[in-house]
Amino acid sequence: MSASYDVVVIGGGIQGVGVAQASAVRGYRTLLLEQNTLAVGTSSRSSKLVHGGLRYLESGRLRLVRESLREREILLRIAPGLVARKDFFIPIYASSRRTAGHVRAGLLLYRLLAGGSVGGFERVPPRAWDSLDGLDTTGLKAVFRYGDAQTDDVALTHAVARSAAEFGAEIRTGTRFVGAERNGAGYEVRYVREGAVMSCETSGLVNATGPWVAQTLSRVLPGPPRLPHDLVAGTHIITEGSLSRGCYYVEAPPDHRGVFILPWRGRLLTGTTERLYTGDPALVAPTPEEIAYLQGALAAHFPGLSTVVAESFAGLRVLPRSGGNLNARSREVVLLADAPLPRLISIFGGKLTAYRRTAERVMDRLKLVLPERPARADTSRLMLAMG
Ligand SMILES: Cc1cc2nc3c(=O)[nH]c(=O)nc-3n(C[C@H](O)[C@H](O)[C@H](O)COP(=O)(O)OP(=O)(O)OC[C@H]3O[C@@H](n4cnc5c(N)ncnc54)[C@H](O)[C@@H]3O)c2cc1C
Repeated sequence: MSASYDVVVIGGGIQGVGVAQASAVRGYRTLLLEQNTLAVGTSSRSSKLVHGGLRYLESGRLRLVRESLREREILLRIAPGLVARKDFFIPIYASSRRTAGHVRAGLLLYRLLAGGSVGGFERVPPRAWDSLDGLDTTGLKAVFRYGDAQTDDVALTHAVARSAAEFGAEIRTGTRFVGAERNGAGYEVRYVREGAVMSCETSGLVNATGPWVAQTLSRVLPGPPRLPHDLVAGTHIITEGSLSRGCYYVEAPPDHRGVFILPWRGRLLTGTTERLYTGDPALVAPTPEEIAYLQGALAAHFPGLSTVVAESFAGLRVLPRSGGNLNARSREVVLLADAPLPRLISIFGGKLTAYRRTAERVMDRLKLVLPERPARADTSRLMLAMG
């Protein structure tokens, strides 16, 4: 007889481990299947920011920004060793598309959406510009400082997975989901581990396979609903150098897109780009054009720093399809269920920052078909420890 679970989660990125934690904490028998190692996908290729997303204000995503800012505060509280407050600087040049008034208005709204508790901002006086890590001051009109947070995406994913395991979730890496079939009370799930095909039964199935979300859905019978979406590749480069004051949010010279230049493990992380991607998610890689674009943004703002690329990596965003350019597309997570009383929930898109809230939402929907169990903790209070 095959094993039986309340919830099986497919995918060991931040969203998958988040759901496994939320499920185990609610007292459910939980299994997570990861084909490779934890955080091998998008969850190791992010900008590593725990933030509301200042730029999403430009496309009017107030709800997303407010929710992410709330989650930022929760993560700062429950994961103090993994998420740290950082100063962010926005330089405004004569050539910038965004004026000082525009940025100031955005920062005011950002503070308001944060509940006014944290995230204050200030205009950095010109006399202090020389202390900004060698930031180019030619044509510089203004500099704003505001507060946000940075994390280590891989370490955060592992910490949430450990927490899930402490509450009894079985986390199986090197285990590939190969198919699921609907039966009376849920799904019969098949997976491959060390070359052997195994199976289990589950009342609820969660597809948290990020860029593989459609591939995973194609292995479920009967065929569940689909959501038209695009995969959008984003590249980062790592270069030698250091930033002692914090993080910089600059406009890339050719198209005025916002690009982050961040301190990262004693070096610099610059990103990101956006390009439609239609290939195999496992094979996404930076292009020479993307690398040159990011080197250009770095050189334009920090002419004294090296632009020699030590490392580069690309990740894939899952963006539900809609009109407009990629930059303006909603980053809000979409949960797609197989039926009004859902047994299968697929996670499309979302933010590293909001993983906890997304997981709670998934579980709120699945609980309609799960047995009553006493909750054992609250993920908004459960401390996450460094490994
Ligand atoms: C360039 C870029 C920058 C970003 N920066 C930020 C940021 O600074 N802050 C922020 O909040 N968000 C950011 N994001 C968003 C954030 O990184 C993602 O929302 C998040 O990492 C997605 O996690 P996930 O678990 O959905 O997907 P993934 O991390 O990709 O995990 C999916 C997992 O599923 C596994 N899998 C696939 N198929 C199978 C199978 N058949 N069986 C078993 N396992 C399978 C994969 O191996 C993978 O580990 C960024 C995204 C990108 C692309």
